[in-house]
Amino acid sequence: MKADSLRSRWFLAVAPLSIVILFVLTQFDFVPLRPGGTVEDLTSLKERDDVNVLFILIDTLRADRLSCYGYERETSPNIDALARNGIRFANHRSQSSWTKASMASLWTSLYPARTGVLRYSHAIPEEAMMPAEVLREAGFRTAAIWRNGWVAPNFGFAQGFEFYTRPVSKNLPREARRENPAVKLPGSDLDVARSAEEFMRTLERDERWFLYLHLMDVHQYVSDLESARFGTTYSDFYDNAIHWTDRIIGSIVDTLRRRRLLDRTIVVIASDHGEAFLEHGTEGHARNVYGEVTRTPLIVSLPFSLEEGIVVETPSQNVDIWPTLLELLDGTPQPESDGRSLVADIRWAAKGRQSTGEERLQVSHLDGTWGRMNQSPYQIIGIAKGRYRGISNNGDDELFELYDLETDPDEQHDLSDVLVEKASEFRSWVREYENTLDSPWGAREIEVDDMLLNQLRALGYQIE
Ligand SMILES: [Zn+2]
Repeated sequence: MKADSLRSRWFLAVAPLSIVILFVLTQFDFVPLRPGGTVEDLTSLKERDDVNVLFILIDTLRADRLSCYGYERETSPNIDALARNGIRFANHRSQSSWTKASMASLWTSLYPARTGVLRYSHAIPEEAMMPAEVLREAGFRTAAIWRNGWVAPNFGFAQGFEFYTRPVSKNLPREARRENPAVKLPGSDLDVARSAEEFMRTLERDERWFLYLHLMDVHQYVSDLESARFGTTYSDFYDNAIHWTDRIIGSIVDTLRRRRLLDRTIVVIASDHGEAFLEHGTEGHARNVYGEVTRTPLIVSLPFSLEEGIVVETPSQNVDIWPTLLELLDGTPQPESDGRSLVADIRWAAKGRQSTGEERLQVSHLDGTWGRMNQSPYQIIGIAKGRYRGISNNGDDELFELYDLETDPDEQHDLSDVLVEKASEFRSWVREYENTLDSPWGAREIEVDDMLLNQLRALGYQIE
């Protein structure tokens, strides 16, 4: 009798505890993040028929503001985690400092002189072969969720996407704020994360997919109380927004984990350009091609976790992204490309060998009058090679700039009058870039209607 009552008392004590334990277990799904792997497993990706691509473009993200790129502030724990067990390209650059020109190059793997997409009314023509077209042809479901009007379908960016949509905008959470006074974009990247989850929910388990997410909260300096930790200058607001966006990235990775997709998905983090805070007298972007607006991150997180992440020091650029991904996936390469696959560089870096970049060019190009309807083009072209970088201002020899990136990474001391021969060598690189690269198709001019113009002005751009 006594034993029985003890047992029942024991049961009474334990039952609620078991319920609590069961509840806790269901909250933390014990799915391992990713199986371990090594650089040798890169080859096996080609043989798999279950690997997806999640391409996350964080608009306006400078590499040097991420902790994993050496920033002293802890802005990016979730992105750092992807880099820690994946591949980080330490010396990466975007092809322009303005979204549309930069994204046209990123998708087509062609330099801006070759895409011809340089001015506000230029669009990518049908003839271009976009990665979404290649992947759709290969049987992937293709979807894009974007919030930047410069990648609207009118400009040719929807080619190959089965779904190409703006997410439904919800109000910002009550404690969140948009601190960039120039930008009046509705909603936040929480809308993108929500739509991404909805997309994943519609998929059959055996379907392969390519999902492109274009995030805008760094561009518009959004943060909430939890992320508003670095101060109150514009530069601090920018860092706060990176922290806020990093938390959204964390939630997207968590969605992959919960849906048991992490071991079947390559996650790519990239950006279209950086942001200036008066380093060369201007704020924002889309005005010049200095490092603060063209040094962007590239992180590739594989469907397996590398015990020690790989850091590639060899220079790379956004036109290299798709040649690399298509090689990893054994996809058909794009017919013409100014980029190169970085797979060999990844293998070398894993063995501790890096190239100095002496044989690599990094090209960034902006038409300085892209938004002025009645002004002639003004081509600003930056070419980095080895330790130097030359910047041509509309071909004017008097205005040519040369920087030694080894002693002056912030490009503050123009050496064109001191290293005259070096400057002349770089001027000829620029001329070669401008003159010998034929566009395989040339940009299309489109009529930009008032509705689209107003959407673009809401991003803070002066188009006049
Ligand atoms: Zn942008």
